[in-house]
This record gives sequence, structure tokens and C-alpha cells, in this order.
Amino acid sequence: MSRALSLRRSLLHLHHHRTNPLSPTTPPPPKPIQNPFAPLYPTRKFCTSPTPIPSTNSEVRKYIGYTALVIFCGAATYYSFPFPGNAKHKKAQLFRYAPLPEDLHTVSNWSGTHEVQTRNFYQPENIEQLEKLVKENNEKKARIRPVGSGLSPNGIGLARSGMVNLALMDKNFASIREQQIGGIVQVGAHGTGARLPPIDEQVVSMKLVTPAKGTIEISKEKDPELFYLARVGLGGLGVVAEVTLQCVERQELVEHTFISNMKDIKKNHKKLLSENKHVKYLHIPYTDAVVVVTCNPVSKWKGPPKYKPKYTTNEALQHVRDLYKESLETYRIAAAKSSDDNEPDINEISFTELRDKLLALDPLSRDHVVKINRAEAEFWAKSEGYRVGWSDEILGFDCGGQQWVSENCFPAGTLAKPSLKDLEFIEKLKQLIEKEEIPAPSPIEQRWTARSQSSMSPASSSAEDDIFSWVGIIMYLPTTDARQRKEITEEFFHYRHLTQAELWDKYSAYEHWAKIEVPKDKDVLAALQERLRRRFPVDAYNKARKELDPNRILSNNMLEKLFPLSETN
Ligand SMILES: Cc1cc2nc3c(=O)[nH]c(=O)nc-3n(C[C@H](O)[C@H](O)[C@H](O)COP(=O)(O)OP(=O)(O)OC[C@H]3O[C@@H](n4cnc5c(N)ncnc54)[C@H](O)[C@@H]3O)c2cc1C
Repeated sequence: MSRALSLRRSLLHLHHHRTNPLSPTTPPPPKPIQNPFAPLYPTRKFCTSPTPIPSTNSEVRKYIGYTALVIFCGAATYYSFPFPGNAKHKKAQLFRYAPLPEDLHTVSNWSGTHEVQTRNFYQPENIEQLEKLVKENNEKKARIRPVGSGLSPNGIGLARSGMVNLALMDKNFASIREQQIGGIVQVGAHGTGARLPPIDEQVVSMKLVTPAKGTIEISKEKDPELFYLARVGLGGLGVVAEVTLQCVERQELVEHTFISNMKDIKKNHKKLLSENKHVKYLHIPYTDAVVVVTCNPVSKWKGPPKYKPKYTTNEALQHVRDLYKESLETYRIAAAKSSDDNEPDINEISFTELRDKLLALDPLSRDHVVKINRAEAEFWAKSEGYRVGWSDEILGFDCGGQQWVSENCFPAGTLAKPSLKDLEFIEKLKQLIEKEEIPAPSPIEQRWTARSQSSMSPASSSAEDDIFSWVGIIMYLPTTDARQRKEITEEFFHYRHLTQAELWDKYSAYEHWAKIEVPKDKDVLAALQERLRRRFPVDAYNKARKELDPNRILSNNMLEKLFPLSETN
């Protein structure tokens, strides 16, 4: 039996609403906050002062008068309201706070920036159950959006009306760390290395369970047009039930981390891109530091490098711990923190945890963020060195805590002839941050991939040797305080907007599908739809959606907004 509403081995944050119908203190559902992209947060409880006790007879009379007025208005409304014929027997009921039903579940993404409540969350255990589920829901025209581990920062897999998740089909459905194969392929996710394409390009064939055409198998030999479209299908063309991927053996890698600066990077960029299997830059705003991380297979002849780090981890972190202690003094919360038993010992936590704690003190103060960024540059300078390990351990990266992110992909020439637009982009971005005094935390992560032949990939290109750069800007959400999260969210969208206005069109940059957000403003949305049409085959995508999923049961609000279906397609 497929399991509805039981989630195992998945990272999605799923909460049952165990509300007590008698409890008036049950918190109301989260409300959209007032920002252009309206993500959802838990609302903050309001503190109300107690109702004052009337002190004089005149005040008592006034309150009796108000009460009588309210009762009169209520009765008048009830008896004069034009009920439909079949509702005449209904009695008026006193208002009661309606608790959320038992079977309503809250599903949120990893960053806690998007959330839906649903009654329908299905987890088939094999392909037969999946096929039955898709068929039955198509007949009922009931939505079941495929969702993976919910890691996409924009919650692209979420749908209030219903979801299907393949976490229990992992016997034939391997998972790469936390992401599911379906999720990572469908958004065209990527690693780094100018010779390495995004992951969708490694897909050789796929089995799609579709609402209208049942289960279909596609490859470049069988239906190439649909194959290249559906590899980055954003979950809208079918439930990906099986994937054949090109792989390489797990290998031992040497990771080399060192600090550089833009002047030297400019001299060495071409070499760094072409001589390293994996390379990425971490740019630190308000500093000239560029952290370069390269990863290459261990040399068969030389073996792993012999290297003794200059600093221990404790030494590399000490100045960050000192900055935290100093900042606690500055913000005058030292006493409260030191008496809090739940506070972890700062000598035990990692750099990214310390950064989160530091940022939480004053996340939107430019000066405070600048200090943290400088401390980060020093941390990396003291952490230079090598690490050797298996590829799946070494290539992972501690991205820090919950965060808003906007990542753009744009052409960067070819390996033989890099355009250097990628470095120019970063220079312009850093100048913008400084000019606008944006409290931009570190890092601005810059990576590269080869092109993809998937037509919906932001790195799609017909030229085999094209390379693309991917640049991510972030703001962390190091707090559960709803007001503070809202302020960070607003600042982040301001930062993103400035970046968009200054850079996106100039560099033909398009956002990662897992990171694009749907604007609330009608005109801004229309401009985005137009922009997407210029880069992606939106008509072909919509045509395929109509053929494979005519009732749009695999869709969600985001797909409908980004790719509106007109009468003609
Ligand atoms: C800490 C962190 C680090 C990250 N690092 C990277 C990175 O290095 N590079 C990068 O590119 N991205 C990165 N991401 C983004 C993330 O890896 C991708 O969004 C990933 O695809 C999410 O996989 P998921 O299983 O969680 O899919 P979800 O987010 O649940 O879904 C993603 C999309 O896939 C569809 N989908 C899921 N399963 C199926 C299926 N079986 N059939 C059809 N459609 C399906 C959904 O409908 C949705 O459109 C990161 C995210 C986080 C939180």
C-alpha cells in the first residue's frame, strides 16, 4: 500500500497539527509576510495588555451600551442576511476559533522560507503503486506534485493541494546524500568544474510516470526532443521513477584551499579553470580576499601531498571567538548569554555556527557584517592547506544555516578562451554592495560548469565548448524571531533586486530553478515571464505539459505563474 502522510528517510520538514480544539492558545496558521515574494513564517505571538477595569459608573454604562449595541447588530445581521433557500434551517452560531484539522500537515523547505499545509502527502513504495496513484489522481483531477527532499531554497516542489514523494522507492532510486535523484535532476542542479556539466547532462534515459500517457521511457534515441526537455522538467512533465546516469567511480581527491585576491585571480583564472577538475571561488564582500578551493584526483605517482598546516583549527578560530565575545559586550547581552544553559560552548562549535551566532546579534548592520567578513577572511587564511578523502566526502561543503539565496548562471566563454565576464560580474557585484552599503555576508560563491543540452537548463547551449559561471548571493536567517526574519528577508530581496537591475541583463544571467522566486507584483511577474521566454523554450515546455499532464495535477502555483498556459499552447 502506498503510504499517505508517513514520511521516512526524507528531509522534508513535515509537522502534524496536533491541535487541541479546546485550546484557544493554539497558534494560528502562519501568515504571509509583507514582502514582494511573500514567503511564509511562523507568526510572532502578540503581547496584549489586560483589559482595563472600568472605574466609574459612567464607564460601566458605556460598556453595557457597547455590549447591547454589538448584540443588536449581530441579531440584525443574522435575521436580515439573505441566506440561500437550502440554508434556512441553519442556526446562527457564536464565533469560535476554528482549530486546524488533525489531518492537516505542514511541509516546509530546508531553509524554512517556504511552507504549505496539505492533507495529501503520498509515499508509494514501488512503481506499480506510483502508477496507480498518478492514474487515480488524474481521473479525480487532484493535484499530486512530485517533491524530493524539499531542499530547493524556493520550495519549488511544494504544493498545498497534494504531493507525492519517492523516498520509500529508494531500492531502485538511489539518493545522493540528502537530495533525491528526481529533485536534483529536475532543477538542473550542478557542482563545480568547467569541464563538468550540470547533473541533468549525465542522464542517459529516464522513466516518467505521466498522467495522460502512463509510464514512458525516454532517451536521446527515443523521443530526443522530449528527453532534452524533460531532463530539466521541473517536476511538471511526469514523476521521474527511474534514471540511468553516467557515473564515474568514487575516487580519492585532494582538496587544496588557499587565499588569493582579484589581481592574482585575473592572472591565473584560465589556468585555474582548465587545470583543475573542480574549482570554486568564495568571494568575501568588503575584503579583497578570494578563497580558492580546488579538488583533483590523488596523483598515482606522487600520492597525497605531504603538508603540515600552519595553524590548528583552534588557532584558526580563536579570533572569531574573540570577536563573538567582544560583540556580546557591545550588544550588552553577555550576562544573559553566559547564564543561559542552552548556549553551546563557543569553543566547541564550527566556524559556520560561530558566523551564524555573530550575525544573529545584528544581521543588518553593515559595520557588524563587515567585521564578521574580515574575520572570515582571516579564518580562511589560517585554514589554508590540503585535505584528502573520498569524492563524496570532499566535495560536500558546509553551507551554513538557513538562508535566502539567489544564484545566477551566465555564459563565461570557453575553456580555451574564457571571456572573463565571470570575474567582471563579481567586481561589479562587490562594487554595488559597497556603494549601496548592503550588509552582505560571506561568501559569494562562484562556480563553473560545462554546458548542458537540456533545453530548460540555465546552462543550455548548442556549442559544446561553452562554459558557464554560477554565482550565488546569500543572506543567512540565523534567528527564529519572526520579526527579525522578516527584516532580513526584506533586505535580501532589496539586495537581490539591485543585483538584478545592475547585472542580470548585462550578463545574460538566469536564476537557478531551485532558487528563482515568484514576484507578487503583476507587472514584475509579467516582465519575468517575458524574460524566461527569451531564454527558454517555454511554448515547447507548455505544449509537453498539456500533452502529458492535461489536468495539471503535477503542477503548483510556481509553475503556473512562471509558465502560464494560454489557450493557444
Ligand atoms: C544546503 C544546500 C546546498 C545546496 N547545494 C546545491 C549545489 O551545490 N548545487 C545545486 O545546484 N543546488 C544546490 N542546492 C539546491 C538543491 O540541491 C536542489 O534544489 C535539489 O535539487 C533539491 O533536491 P530535492 O530532492 O530536495 O528536490 P525538491 O526540492 O523536493 O524538488 C525539486 C524539484 O524536483 C521535482 N521533483 C522532485 N522529485 C521528483 C520526481 N521524482 N519526479 C519529478 N520531479 C521531481 C520537484 O517537483 C521540484 O520541481 C542546495 C540546497 C541546499 C539546501
